[in-house]
Amino acid sequence: MAELTTPALLLRSIDYGESDRIITLLGRTTGCLGAIARGARKSQRRFGGGLGLCTVGDAALRERGGSELLTLERFEATETFASLGTDVVRMGHAAYVAELLAKLCAPRQPEPAIFDLALEFLVLLEARGAKTLRLRAFELALIDGLGFAPTLDACLSCGRTDLSTSETIDVRFIAEQGGVVCFGCSRQGRAMRPVVRLALARLASTPLGEADALVDADAIPADVERGCRGALQEVIAGHLSAPLRSLEFLSKLELDGSVARAAGINIDRAAGAAGEGTS
Ligand SMILES: [Zn+2]
Repeated sequence: MAELTTPALLLRSIDYGESDRIITLLGRTTGCLGAIARGARKSQRRFGGGLGLCTVGDAALRERGGSELLTLERFEATETFASLGTDVVRMGHAAYVAELLAKLCAPRQPEPAIFDLALEFLVLLEARGAKTLRLRAFELALIDGLGFAPTLDACLSCGRTDLSTSETIDVRFIAEQGGVVCFGCSRQGRAMRPVVRLALARLASTPLGEADALVDADAIPADVERGCRGALQEVIAGHLSAPLRSLEFLSKLELDGSVARAAGINIDRAAGAAGEGTS
């Protein structure tokens, strides 16, 4: 069968048998797929640069008749994001993003814009370190790209747009309905503070590369960021069949990232920080 080649981002890699690995990758032209890398734990020749979590490179794949798993013939790394191997907080963010992509992107459906978004996120993570607000901006851009961004500027039910921008709380956030509903229309859902609704809208319209400017300007306080996070996690959870394993890891890191750093926690990039490596 013909060989497929694509720029690819490695989302998951687990040992299989004596010398193989089973990997999940996001290919720019193939979408998300699983593949077996035969002899990957021994051959540095066909898998130059290794198959670590979030490594980016050029993948050559071949279909295996009747199998969901393709064969990864070769993988030449072009970017390994070295800091992920030494910074546990960066690794936590990368592992979360990788798990989100693996769980939310439909199999074999090319999403080049999402591939580019993920790459941009990882480049920023490598260059500027882990920033919580950048992660929120990524989540918003990802769910927008996948077609389920929440409506924040109008009541989903009556369409009114004169929503409160002051202290007065007048909307509820209903993740399963896809956004906010005014108090006049619904008594269900969780009340959302205007400052959280406005922060979400602002983050949704901020390009990923500019999210760090919001961090630097202290534009969104920590309690508001937590409100945004809660709402986004509800939206994302509604599209998953099981909770994200990396989320618990990430919460622990954010509680005491400095402790983890000081302890020099070892990160197994091959298994993935959210997967077998640390659980
Ligand atoms: Zn309404």
